Amino acid sequence: MNSLYASIYNCFLRLKATIVGDNCYRIYSQLDCEQWLNHDEIQALQLRRFRNILKNAAVNSPYYRKKLSDLKVSYRDIQSINDIHQIPLLTRSELQSHFREILCENAGNVYADSSGGSTGQPVNFYHDSSYIRYANAVNLLFYKWMDIEPGMKTAAFWGADREFNELSMNEKFWYMHTRVRLYNFFNVTEASLLKFLQNMSNYKPAYIYGYASALKMAAEYINNSELSFNISPKAIRSSAEILFKSQRHEIETAFNAPLFNFYGSREINNLGSECEYHKGMHIFSSGRLMEIVDKKGNPVPDGENGFIVVTDLTNMNFPFIRYMNGDMGVIDKNQCTCGRGYPLLKEITGRAAEILCINGKYVHGEFFTHLFYGMPEVRQFQVIQETDNQIRIRIVAINRDIDIEGIEKKIETQINGKIQIQIEYVDNIAPLKSGKYQLIINNTL
Ligand SMILES: [Zn+2]
Repeated sequence: MNSLYASIYNCFLRLKATIVGDNCYRIYSQLDCEQWLNHDEIQALQLRRFRNILKNAAVNSPYYRKKLSDLKVSYRDIQSINDIHQIPLLTRSELQSHFREILCENAGNVYADSSGGSTGQPVNFYHDSSYIRYANAVNLLFYKWMDIEPGMKTAAFWGADREFNELSMNEKFWYMHTRVRLYNFFNVTEASLLKFLQNMSNYKPAYIYGYASALKMAAEYINNSELSFNISPKAIRSSAEILFKSQRHEIETAFNAPLFNFYGSREINNLGSECEYHKGMHIFSSGRLMEIVDKKGNPVPDGENGFIVVTDLTNMNFPFIRYMNGDMGVIDKNQCTCGRGYPLLKEITGRAAEILCINGKYVHGEFFTHLFYGMPEVRQFQVIQETDNQIRIRIVAINRDIDIEGIEKKIETQINGKIQIQIEYVDNIAPLKSGKYQLIINNTL
């Protein structure tokens, strides 16, 4: 039944794409071939796409027009992948200050978005239609790697600002026809976790995705419970956080299914994922050019830890060129057993959306990143938990015109109780020794 619905659903999606002229399936077929290209062929393709993005940015993006003209660098100077180091890095601070000038003047339909990120430094940006089509095509490819079809019953262990019954009709319709059932892990108790698992036992999802910590929390409950749950998906996807080896073991044992680690960010999604061999995450190199650099921006050799820098080769209208997203990682020197040419990201070593435990309730660090979405006056923030019912929020702000009462209210609604919240305006928040900013510090552990 799961497969029958999914097959009909996929026929409908293809038909709809043909009618509205969406070429996502054409891009998907292209990716399906490109994933098997060898290293040199992939680099040649990336170089061509990088030059296109740069050429367009130099003409149409006020930020890059000035930057490239000051540096006297043109897309013609980029003759090999090594030449891209002539283009300066785009840091989160630069993005915060210049996001309006980065947008191309001739941009057609673009969609504004913002992100708190795991670094606690909120940024605003835009996505265009080709970015979205590429993202959809990569999703199809990734589903194929997991042997899942869109439309199969899905359980999402996710964080949401609103419960299902508070969603708009359109949103509810989306969850229903995609057959995604949302389990809100922003704020869970033992009782609500048991309810989720019982509900899931009846629903029988073929696919589960969620935050690593949320998956682990559910898995731990199942593994330590005397109750039995009838949840046996074909695949599980973990994303948005570092996945630790012990977590993988716990999750795979509880659900008796393979876990696929996935890496993406709100600014540039679909960065990498594990294939069926689980040797590391293949970087989706057709649309993402990833580098690892040191603190000064110099490339580090494969196999060494450094800062992740990404160029989005799909978003022509809001050029993300050599964007340092705040994460750290290691690229593997070795090839994967599957034979795909997309290089492997061995591990993400720095990504710190962590969990607070307030009055016995877990609040995911990601909740705070959502809290500051769409508040451009907040440049940076950090949440420190001092005691069980006391948190301190440090804010670097452009001005103090911030709805503190509103923030406090949302937190108290989230934890369903009272908590002492201290707001501290600071001039800056120092990074950790590694250079990574820590969004959540839990001093009660
Ligand atoms: Zn592979």
